[in-house]
Amino acid sequence: MREQLEQIRAQALEQLGDAATPEQIEAVRVRVLGRSGELTEIMRRMPEVPREERPAIGRLVNEIKTQIEERIAVLSEQLKRLAMERSLVEARIDVTLPGLNVPRGWLHPVTQSRERMLDILESMGFEVVETPDIEDDFHNFGALNFPPDHPAREMQDTFFLFGGLLLRTHTSNGQIRVMEQRKPPLAIVCPGNCYRPDELTVRSSPMFGQIEGFMIDRAGVITMAHLKGVLTEFLRAFFGPESAVRFRASFFPFTEPSAEVDISCLLCGGSGCRVCKQSGWTEILGAGMIHPNVLRAVGYDPEEYQGFAFGMGVERTALLKLGVEDMRLFFENDLRFLRQFRSGEAVS
Ligand SMILES: [Zn+2]
Repeated sequence: MREQLEQIRAQALEQLGDAATPEQIEAVRVRVLGRSGELTEIMRRMPEVPREERPAIGRLVNEIKTQIEERIAVLSEQLKRLAMERSLVEARIDVTLPGLNVPRGWLHPVTQSRERMLDILESMGFEVVETPDIEDDFHNFGALNFPPDHPAREMQDTFFLFGGLLLRTHTSNGQIRVMEQRKPPLAIVCPGNCYRPDELTVRSSPMFGQIEGFMIDRAGVITMAHLKGVLTEFLRAFFGPESAVRFRASFFPFTEPSAEVDISCLLCGGSGCRVCKQSGWTEILGAGMIHPNVLRAVGYDPEEYQGFAFGMGVERTALLKLGVEDMRLFFENDLRFLRQFRSGEAVS
């Protein structure tokens, strides 16, 4: 029996030495120390042992049992530590690795230009007011002194909608909308998109941004001189203080007198080049003193109030400022083009 016990001990220790998982250790424990395990069986057979040998066999059984239990405890602890070390190695976070690059957007170059234009105008005392893109004939044409047979009212020049509505062809509707609701003194700019059935070309687009501005006060307070001063100041703030500004007599239904405003060519500085067709000048906006009929249309007395108005294209002004030669680039949104203008205010 002593021999048998030594065999059980040797086999158990050998198997524990090979055990690599908690399950394998548990299997050895059950087979040797379990309720019907090998040592338990030996104890059951104790009556077979001669009386004088029983104490020695009993001690040996206990010794083997204790030895195996201790070995199991040590092995289990080792396995647990190994498993934890492995999980620490596998789940290690390297805090020195560079982070994920989250790309940041930036404002479209046309938006950047429009924001800059509005910033300058606001700094000069103008208030920004948004007005509707969808208009009726009165606010887009009638109140602005367009005669009933004016060619702008033809189908090929205006997007007409259902129910007598249309997509505004200019932001001048903003002038009417604001004047209907408020009384002078007024210094307002109305930015927004306008629509005309034009092809998308190098210089034109069926949808384009405009900024309409106007300033009205009691008759005699606001004159053509103020118009020239405000626009010259604005254009020099936007294009640079060295820009020359020129006013030419023109005609619009809603202003009288009317002027077209040129700035010295940004490319040649006024000496003449291909872009300015050797004139040294680039047309930049239209302006004038608000026509008395426009004032009457909103219930103002032209004897009492007087003011000026101006309007300019946003994309066209951005083209000149940024030195872009083709307006279509603004609408195609090719990132290779847009990336050149990411110096502007970033948006997340
Ligand atoms: Zn030029």
